[in-house]
Amino acid sequence: MRHWLQRRAVARSAIVALTIGLALLAGLAFFSARSAAEASASVAARQQVSQQWNEIYLKINIEYELLVDFLDQQSAQGRAVLTGSIGSAEENLRWLNAHGGREDSAQARALQNTYSGYSYTLRNLVDATRGDDEVLVVQQARQAALSAASLRKQASLNIARNNLEIGDRLREAQQNSDQIKLAVGVIALTDLALVGFCTVVLLVYQRSTERQAAESRYRATHDGLTGVANRNLLTESIEKAIARTIPGGPGVGLLLIDLNRFKEVNDTLGHHAGDLLLQEVARRLTGASRGTDVVARLGGDEFAVLLSAVQSADEVMEIGRRILTGLCGPAELEGLTLDISGSIGVAYYPEPSTSAAELLQHADVAMYAAKRGHSGISMYDPEADLNSFEQLTLLGELRRAIENGELELHYQPKVRVGTRALSGAEALVRWLHPTRGLLGPHLFIPSAEQSDLMRPLTEAVLEEALAQHQRWRHDGLLIPVSVNVGASNLLDPAFPDRVAELMDRYGTAAGQLTIELTESALVDDPVRAAAALRDMRDRGVLLSIDDFGTGYSSMSYLQVMPLDELKIDRQFTTEILSTSRGRPIVTAIVDLAHALGLQVVVEGIEDERTHAMIAEMGCEIAQGYLFCRPLPPDDFAAWAVSWSTTEPLQPATR
Ligand code: C2E
Ligand code: MG
Ligand code: MG
Repeated sequence: MRHWLQRRAVARSAIVALTIGLALLAGLAFFSARSAAEASASVAARQQVSQQWNEIYLKINIEYELLVDFLDQQSAQGRAVLTGSIGSAEENLRWLNAHGGREDSAQARALQNTYSGYSYTLRNLVDATRGDDEVLVVQQARQAALSAASLRKQASLNIARNNLEIGDRLREAQQNSDQIKLAVGVIALTDLALVGFCTVVLLVYQRSTERQAAESRYRATHDGLTGVANRNLLTESIEKAIARTIPGGPGVGLLLIDLNRFKEVNDTLGHHAGDLLLQEVARRLTGASRGTDVVARLGGDEFAVLLSAVQSADEVMEIGRRILTGLCGPAELEGLTLDISGSIGVAYYPEPSTSAAELLQHADVAMYAAKRGHSGISMYDPEADLNSFEQLTLLGELRRAIENGELELHYQPKVRVGTRALSGAEALVRWLHPTRGLLGPHLFIPSAEQSDLMRPLTEAVLEEALAQHQRWRHDGLLIPVSVNVGASNLLDPAFPDRVAELMDRYGTAAGQLTIELTESALVDDPVRAAAALRDMRDRGVLLSIDDFGTGYSSMSYLQVMPLDELKIDRQFTTEILSTSRGRPIVTAIVDLAHALGLQVVVEGIEDERTHAMIAEMGCEIAQGYLFCRPLPPDDFAAWAVSWSTTEPLQPATR
């Protein structure tokens, strides 16, 4: 019913019907006024005619009365009055003849003859009274009496006829007016019903318009897939929350959440699974946040939670940690178990973020920091803001630093597990900044990765490492070197040729250079990556997967990529002793690597117990502060010489 009422055609028909109904009512009012006017004009005309007949009747009577009086007294005055009255009804008869209508003018003409005869008789009678012919007078008087009686009779007949006609007309008018009243009543009732109907239709229509407006407002401010707020509503809510703050009072916190490995879920399991995952994430975030918080999806796998009225940045961090705990964990999606995890960037108003725009930007910066540092959650730190103005200048300076050779390489030994024999060195870049001193790679590699500087930087590192390898060789030390290579280098088609060129230039033998790649470098474009790897491997370069286990969980690339070595990330190494699950995880990785014919390097060995543990697990190579921290080349050479080992340096084997 409601649906039917919402139809535009129904609303239009109701309005058209109402218009017709109102027009009918107006027409009827006009018609009734006109017919009433006509009826009263016709009755008035009839009354005028009747009036004339009444006057005729009266005048005949008066004439006759005057005759009787005159015959009684025979006075000169009586004669004069009678003579003066003779023919007094002529005027009325003429009027009736002219205006009385067909019937009355015919009647008037007929009466006129009798009346003329009567007047003639009266005049003769008056004349006869002057003589002394009594018989003639009596004869004439009798004649006059007869005529007067006939005239009176005719006049009164006409009066009665007219009165009857007036009655008829009045009745007719009454009937007309009754019919009009009935029609007006029916139409007015119909109109009333139509007005009621139109009101209902308009109300339903208005309500549905309001609902549609509310729906489109909802669509404009909410995410269609997950139902949480969208970017527009979030921005609006941030501005409102900031406007509500008072100096010295509670502030506003913003959490920016980016899912880990979402792209992989989408690519391998399809968009439907991706959508389900995003919906589950929205549910978890909403469940973990407070009732007053605004949960929003900014697009892709990026979410945000706005916390208003929070006392401090620490409180925001605390809530953020709670939300991260609520977010992370396995999820059942259509029979598959997926592990949800994410990185959260935290920003706080009024300090250090001073506006809504800064809050968003700072949370974004912090989120990338959390992603890079694998910390899960990270508070915005102005000093480490990679997107800040300072960082932009830093990139400019870095470009010059690469050109001017300001980058230095420190080397960290890789030793054989158990014997501790030096098996190689990993080249780790540092930047000797003219004013800021020696900067670690975490301060500039991430921003170089987001710019076009990775190519020149890696080439500079590679060249320096191979040159150093050559210098050590000349000094009698054969130390295979490992160089870290970013994703952008691997996707550069000229990179394998460049590596080969540098190896030729510095006389690097096969097996002396290892390239360490992160999992993301392989997963971003696996086809191109595999081609580049095969190319380099053909030229004697060894290939290693760095930070294994921290990137993508899909391990299908291990089957297809030509690899030699797998480096277990420091994060797992520390967990071997600190958590009960650390050991089985590392054991499983080691078994997997060995099954695939890969040599295992364990990073971050800081104590003897861990070293003993990885020896038990069958890992081949270890790296960590237990043996040596990264050292400048000369110090490294000195360390290598003094490093008491019985095992001679060996090139790594495949
Ligand atoms: P990575 O390749 O995993 O290098 C190992 C990092 O772990 C080094 O940090 C090293 O100093 C540190 N480390 C080694 N043993 C221990 C230990 O026992 N305990 C602890 N806590 N840390 C240890 P570093 O030099 O700060 O380098 C950090 C990351 O920066 C590297 O991780 C690598 O991903 C990147 N990086 C360094 N140099 C280069 C480079 O030339 N090119 C590229 N693309 N990335 C580089
Ligand atoms: Mg490395
Ligand atoms: Mg590593």
